[in-house]
Amino acid sequence: MQKSAKDYANTWVRPEIQALNAYPVPNAQGMLKLDAMESPYVWPADEHMQQAWQQALQAVAINRYPAADAQELKQKLRQAFAIGDHWEILLGNGSDEIIQLLALAVAGSGRSVLAPEPSFVMFKMIATFVGMDYIGVPLNTDFSLDLQSMLTQIRTHQPALIFLAQPNNPTGNLYGEAAIAEILQTAQGLVVLDEAYTAFTDADYLPWLEKYPNLVVMRTLSKVGLAGLRLGFLVGAPAWINEIEKLRLPYNINTLTQASAVLALNYFDILKEQCQQIRQQREILSQALIDLHPEIEVFASEANFILIRMAQAGVIFQKLKEKGVLIKCLDGAHPLLHNCLRISVSTAEENQIFLQAFASVLAQGD
Ligand code: PMP
Repeated sequence: MQKSAKDYANTWVRPEIQALNAYPVPNAQGMLKLDAMESPYVWPADEHMQQAWQQALQAVAINRYPAADAQELKQKLRQAFAIGDHWEILLGNGSDEIIQLLALAVAGSGRSVLAPEPSFVMFKMIATFVGMDYIGVPLNTDFSLDLQSMLTQIRTHQPALIFLAQPNNPTGNLYGEAAIAEILQTAQGLVVLDEAYTAFTDADYLPWLEKYPNLVVMRTLSKVGLAGLRLGFLVGAPAWINEIEKLRLPYNINTLTQASAVLALNYFDILKEQCQQIRQQREILSQALIDLHPEIEVFASEANFILIRMAQAGVIFQKLKEKGVLIKCLDGAHPLLHNCLRISVSTAEENQIFLQAFASVLAQGD
């Protein structure tokens, strides 16, 4: 009998890939979107920026490949993030792509990736993509690092790569400097500090590059208002970055992204101010959630989202969805996330809409 496409795919796609579910992105059309830690602020912020952006885009030669080394953009990033000239920068199509490049660079038989759990799901998924073993080290129940367990696992498995998201997604907390320093001293492999949410915290590990030759720092423009551009970057010693650079596909940062990001970084102060607003709103929203119902557990956050735990989280999530509010339900994603929901912090107005919807869902349930 003629073999079907499914027969062929089943034969050839690796079993561990067949066992995966693709990264889930729900349809959010027409909804208040509080599920993905995006900025609520429309870009560009005003008429003047709108014109400047249009001009920048008009100057782009779409018939040509993008600038492969993206020097202008890297220069802007250096200025915006105070990155010293002795560090190299690698650009990725989102920091997701950088995670993949890092994994590709070190993948090999018997090589492993280690990360605390729960954390950003792509650390594990990408380890699987590239055929590496993945070691997830459970956080403590308060989501702090279980440092002893981390150190033991690091000594046992000698992972090639360790990912630490600071602040962590989806828990929102920082792991603390002393714990990170011990991990850096114990690890023989590369430690990646993923600072995707750095705009919402005072923690800043870029200066640590001076101290630790096995450290690189990863950041993204996604959370500061430019998620659609897909631009992540990795900062580190040339010895690391130049090797990983070899794996980067040519022209991975398209022309429109390069031109738009260069322009946006000219207005970086405006984006930073918006992040400050979100920080303030985070405190207001956290308090409002605490006040809303005594049984909602609200975890302190250093990021642009808040994790909460409450009975029947899955039902609450569905009811909010029916009311046009999309948040993230993490119940079932990891044992430590039982009954947990994650809410992106938005503007005062949108947070209010969310709170009202939430209050009315809770009132229905009583
Ligand atoms: N790291 C962390 C901790 C994240 O939460 C995310 C996105 N949610 C990313 C990296 C990836 O971000 P991006 O690919 O948009 O740069």
